[in-house]
Amino acid sequence: MSTKSHQHDVLVIGGGAAGMTLALKLSQDYQVAMLCKDVTSEGSTYYAQGGVAAVLDEYDSIDSHIQDTLVAGAGLCHEDVVKYTVEQSPAVIQWLVDLGVKFDVETQANGRQEFHLTQEGGHSHRRVIHAADATGKEIGSTLATQVREQPNITVFEHHAAVDLITADMIGQPGKRCIGAYVLNLETQEVELFQARFVVLATGGASKVYLYTSNPDTASGDGIAMAWRAGCRVGNMEFNQFHPTCLYHPLAKSFLISEALRGEGARLVLKDGTRFMQDFDQREELAPRDIVARAIDHEMKRLGCDCVYLDITHKGKDFITAHFPTIYARCLELGIDITEQPIPVVPAAHYTCGGIKTDIHGATDIPNLYAVGEASFTGLHGANRMASNSLLECMVFAGAAADHIQQQDAKSSPHLLIPAWDESQVTDSDEDVVIAHNWDELRRFMWDYVGIVRTDKRLQRARRRVRLLNQEVDEYYSNYKITNDLLELRNLITVADLIIQSAMQRKESRGLHYTLNYPTLQSVGKDTILVPPNYG
Ligand SMILES: Cc1cc2nc3c(=O)[nH]c(=O)nc-3n(C[C@H](O)[C@H](O)[C@H](O)COP(=O)(O)OP(=O)(O)OC[C@H]3O[C@@H](n4cnc5c(N)ncnc54)[C@H](O)[C@@H]3O)c2cc1C
Repeated sequence: MSTKSHQHDVLVIGGGAAGMTLALKLSQDYQVAMLCKDVTSEGSTYYAQGGVAAVLDEYDSIDSHIQDTLVAGAGLCHEDVVKYTVEQSPAVIQWLVDLGVKFDVETQANGRQEFHLTQEGGHSHRRVIHAADATGKEIGSTLATQVREQPNITVFEHHAAVDLITADMIGQPGKRCIGAYVLNLETQEVELFQARFVVLATGGASKVYLYTSNPDTASGDGIAMAWRAGCRVGNMEFNQFHPTCLYHPLAKSFLISEALRGEGARLVLKDGTRFMQDFDQREELAPRDIVARAIDHEMKRLGCDCVYLDITHKGKDFITAHFPTIYARCLELGIDITEQPIPVVPAAHYTCGGIKTDIHGATDIPNLYAVGEASFTGLHGANRMASNSLLECMVFAGAAADHIQQQDAKSSPHLLIPAWDESQVTDSDEDVVIAHNWDELRRFMWDYVGIVRTDKRLQRARRRVRLLNQEVDEYYSNYKITNDLLELRNLITVADLIIQSAMQRKESRGLHYTLNYPTLQSVGKDTILVPPNYG
């Protein structure tokens, strides 16, 4: 059967905040294809509860937001990138408001209506604009409505990109990106998507860990595809663990937003004793890594399955008005958060590292861009500050769209690309290998490459990941691809990149904490991994 082929000006792989913003910004002048592995509403964007950090209050300042971000990033933020991002924040919010995003407002004493801003860990001001506790859903659904109204954007749901195609792969000079092979998950056929520009907006890789707050789409596909194609990746050792995911057998990855701590919720042990004061003078408002490590420490010390977050003292009216989603979800599971503390555990939440880009979102490969959580722009340094990530998605999608428009005159026409070759593979009769290796990978990443690391644990993890890599490579060469196989292959690549990066960092900094090197080195350096086919 011949390979189905599509041609567009721009191929955007991923339909979260980053991908949709970019598609919208280019839709006036370009034919855009936007791929989603699942439906458009399945991605981290839709799960974001807290909000977007932006300088909107007259008593706040760009400089203060920059300083807070630099402090959270523990010496590794790229200051020019932080400044650029923060300076764009008011314009990004205005763009969203103009599109129809409804953020919460409150009436001031003087009768004026202003945005209600919350304060989250690491921020020295109230500067997180939000739509109750379902900000991502509000932003995501508004962007999706706009995307669907643009005749120049074609959305392909249930289409999983397999690998990027570069000119040299088909014997042409140069290495520019010219498209991707994509598995249509409804027909199980691989299709060819050709484009003059390709954008990776595939989100993060937190699914590499057993416990995560992320949806199933977060399997690091874009990072793995870019690495295979020859892009450098940076700072993959910095994995943010959210301190407070709901601990309940039926609550798959349900996050208890940081905003609860911002509004005064207290972390307590089963007997009601507070403990954050023993770890940091900012107590519950300390940055996430410190809170996650404190919880991990208490859980290991006491051998308990979870700790508790108590907001009952704020009263029912306040809680139900500010946290309706969390209140409703917990109540469904039999926990009335207005009357009892919430059982919580840490879970993998955010991938700070990713595909190395410049300030325009451009990667090492010409005509290939990376935006959103898949990218490593230098904004987050060694630790992402809460609510800077949605901001980054929109700022860098805008920057990449501008850059594509500037490069356009130089771009070449579509090349002839060979069809996907399946002549040497058969249907698998051993799917158990995939299921087993999925579990094994995510468990050892949790145990050995999690919140607290050691050299020995990292070495153990490396041995295992190399073995899994061999098995899955062999499997990939012999059997027809499925989405599970693609995700497993990508997760193994990402796990390997995380382990390699963690082994290179001989210090504890930000989110990377190792018992072998508990102190900070005087000079902070990014960890940049270079693929064998780079350049
Ligand atoms: C529970 C939760 C709460 C959060 N709260 C906040 C918050 O309050 N504030 C904040 O700033 N950040 C928050 N974050 C982080 C933030 O939501 C994410 O960093 C951000 O939404 C990432 O957006 P994105 O567009 O890069 O990726 P995503 O929104 O994850 O979208 C990725 C897209 O890529 C697609 N995709 C992936 N692989 C492929 C492939 N191979 N082929 C085709 N498509 C593919 C997916 O289908 C999806 O459409 C939160 C995250 C979570 C999980």
